[in-house]
Amino acid sequence: MAKEDVTRGDVLAALSEFDTLQQKAFLQKYGMKKATKYFVKHDGKLYDSKAILAAAHGHHQDYAPLVWEDFSGGKADAVKFLQDLGFEVAEARDFNWARDELILACDLMCDNDWKAVRAHDPRAVELSELLRRMPLHPVELRKPDFRSPNSIQQKTFNIETSFGNDGMGGKKATKGGALDLVVRKEFQDDEKHMRAAAKLIRDGLLSGILAGESLGLPDLDEMESTAVEGRLLERRHLSRERSRKLRKNKIASHLKSHVTLACEVCKFDFSAKYGPHGDRYIECHHVIPLAKSGAKETKLQDLILICANCHRMIHRRSPWLTPDELRNLIADNANKK
Ligand SMILES: [Zn+2]
Ligand SMILES: [Zn+2]
Repeated sequence: MAKEDVTRGDVLAALSEFDTLQQKAFLQKYGMKKATKYFVKHDGKLYDSKAILAAAHGHHQDYAPLVWEDFSGGKADAVKFLQDLGFEVAEARDFNWARDELILACDLMCDNDWKAVRAHDPRAVELSELLRRMPLHPVELRKPDFRSPNSIQQKTFNIETSFGNDGMGGKKATKGGALDLVVRKEFQDDEKHMRAAAKLIRDGLLSGILAGESLGLPDLDEMESTAVEGRLLERRHLSRERSRKLRKNKIASHLKSHVTLACEVCKFDFSAKYGPHGDRYIECHHVIPLAKSGAKETKLQDLILICANCHRMIHRRSPWLTPDELRNLIADNANKK
């Protein structure tokens, strides 16, 4: 027996057997584990590469399938053989659950008396579809079982068993699971707010408004933590604030009763500092977080005009400061000097 003898046809036979049996039964049949990194990409679908090569060997005339210990699934071994036969081998990995995903998972648990949700529960299937729509983890790097109903059962089970009634207690949280418990605790502390955020995320994903939210708003890199409501609503909030039309209307209405466009927090005036170059420069900040305002249209009175520095300081950490909090912070700091 030799891997070198495996043909493209043998591999295709293994792929079609995988399709028939589905991943779990296929891996069981060949005594293989799930791939951790490399997958054969065929017709847009990912297949555990080492298991495919093992099975392909068994599809070769008179050969037995390879066993796990026989060979390596790595780049120099299984990957290379499959590539030499003309197959595409893609890399994929696991992703830690993002805050947004945990908000939706906790919201479902909340409906379920904070019990784990079974994989066959239609709500787990529904959540799985929503999570796959979230534009947070690159599609091309996701494993085939990314946010599957099974993974939802496991995640909700972990949350259920590691969250004690005493708050953060219960079994000691694992490192990777720490954010799970943070979000779970936020639901305990302010269920109404968190459920409102979950609803907005869900609606936004279903309507497509959040599914297509741009991945790279530059401010996000400067922020040290994600907003309580999660990254998607944070992006949505920031992109709403950047609406040119809204900013133009806000400036026009402000100038009806004010002479300058000074920052409403620190009084900084771009045109006073930079002359004509800074004329009419100011940023808009929406004072109501999305989860409180809902998805309805922005009202001008919910916006304040604010300099770039103050704006950054408001959004720097979660939860975001209110304009009054920032004013007080500036005043307190000045008094200390
Ligand atoms: Zn300012
Ligand atoms: Zn803002």
